Amino acid sequence: MTVAIIGAGPSGLAAARALQRVGIRADGYEAGHGVGGLWDISNPRSTMYSSAHLISSRTTTQFSEFPMRSGVDYPGHAAMRQYFADYAAEFALTELFRFRTEVTRLHPATGGGWELTARPAPAGQQAREVPAREAAAPDTAAEPVTRHYDHVVIANGTLAEPNIPTFPGDFSGELRHTSRYKHASELAGKRVLIVGAGNSGCDIAVDAVHHATAVDLSVRRGYYFVPRYLFGRPSDTLNRGKGLPRPIKQLVDKWVLRAFTGNPARFGFPEPQYRIYESHPVVNTTVLSHLGQGDLQVRPDIDHFDGSTVHFTDGSTGDYDLVLLATGYRLDYPFVDRAELNWHSAAPELFLNMVPPQVNGLFVVGMVEASGLGWQGRYEQAELVAAYLAAERDDPGRAERMRARIAAEPWPDLTGGYRYLGLDRMSYYVDKHTYRTALRRELEALQRPLDARPPGRDGSTRASSAVGSRDGR
Ligand SMILES: Cc1cc2nc3c(=O)[nH]c(=O)nc-3n(C[C@H](O)[C@H](O)[C@H](O)COP(=O)(O)OP(=O)(O)OC[C@H]3O[C@@H](n4cnc5c(N)ncnc54)[C@H](O)[C@@H]3O)c2cc1C
Repeated sequence: MTVAIIGAGPSGLAAARALQRVGIRADGYEAGHGVGGLWDISNPRSTMYSSAHLISSRTTTQFSEFPMRSGVDYPGHAAMRQYFADYAAEFALTELFRFRTEVTRLHPATGGGWELTARPAPAGQQAREVPAREAAAPDTAAEPVTRHYDHVVIANGTLAEPNIPTFPGDFSGELRHTSRYKHASELAGKRVLIVGAGNSGCDIAVDAVHHATAVDLSVRRGYYFVPRYLFGRPSDTLNRGKGLPRPIKQLVDKWVLRAFTGNPARFGFPEPQYRIYESHPVVNTTVLSHLGQGDLQVRPDIDHFDGSTVHFTDGSTGDYDLVLLATGYRLDYPFVDRAELNWHSAAPELFLNMVPPQVNGLFVVGMVEASGLGWQGRYEQAELVAAYLAAERDDPGRAERMRARIAAEPWPDLTGGYRYLGLDRMSYYVDKHTYRTALRRELEALQRPLDARPPGRDGSTRASSAVGSRDGR
């Protein structure tokens, strides 16, 4: 059985490791010069910036079988890059990848499987600073190659392709997406408008107050701001295990946040028109402190540009040198036909966010957003792929049984009952507990011997009554 992996970020490494554990040696392709994905700030596709740290805490995020050496609760990106290098070295994963090699095409092969074409990453994609040892790596494609694989794991990341909105009018200053923001010094002496108050927008707003001459934050909606610490502990470690039922959790957590951070409307944000956890929370309260100090101010949505002036929807205006779009990312799998991944509007519609309904030998690992899922969550995705491929190799009836379930049964609802906002980025969002439970059930179902009786309702692998569907969320 031949398997390829696209990407050596956390998800691609998880895939390589999970396959290794079932005795499948995969060929990896990575456009950058080393492992770590976007956590390697020198990877040309990285959208990391120098002040970035984890926003989910270390113990929630790390691979279970490989705890981070750092004792820090929220390590920075450089520590994370080292962590992935250590992980890859520990399990001999680095040698499975060809670096500086970009996959440009995946095409169904006549007779089954996939033709994968890769080429040396274009010069613009070469790393800014390539460590000497890696620069000399012999495993780089010198010219385009096309190989046949039975299966391909796609782990090329979700936060590389900027989502760039358009606005009426012309802006005479610089308009830039945060994907091209690296360091606060780029803001020195400028009047800066940051558009969007998600996690990146708020991190960069905090950077900006120390360097820019003036900073504003334009928002369209309200947000929930979660402190990094609650009751003296990383806030995402307080709710391990199943936790409270959803409506109670939403109520309790809303009031805990009110008690700790107050009402963000006091700082100029609109009241959220949705309940907590129906959109990704912002893990940053420093930005609120800066608002309280008058270091920046909240502005409404942009109405239009006119030269260096930005007109806002409330009729107010501001003059800026730089408009920084913290407007997020969109999914992008440019090397494969959209039908192969069952795209529906903003995202592929995949069984457990991983497997196309036609089970065509492609698997996506890492196309998942959730609060606190971490890399262990990505590893559990990879574990299911590995178990499926091991079944196909060792006991094809079990793999066939999973394919039949995907085709005939309703797919599990992964929302945990949360009514996620209708934003593009929420189209592949899941509730962490629900998702991990669904992965575990599927893994158990897959590994059950063919002659074993299926378990009863409580341990059922059948989806619950609230179901997602293959053709509409
Ligand atoms: C500022 C910031 C903070 C974050 N904080 C957290 C956090 O606290 N917790 C958390 O869980 N997540 C966080 N994330 C989310 C982050 O996406 C994940 O942590 C993780 O990096 C996802 O791993 P991945 O392997 O799926 O994707 P990536 O890390 O993006 O890796 C994808 C890899 O694929 C390679 N690649 C892409 N296309 C090709 C191709 N055609 N051919 C060959 N190689 C290709 C890329 O070069 C890259 O190395 C954060 C993201 C950002 C930007």
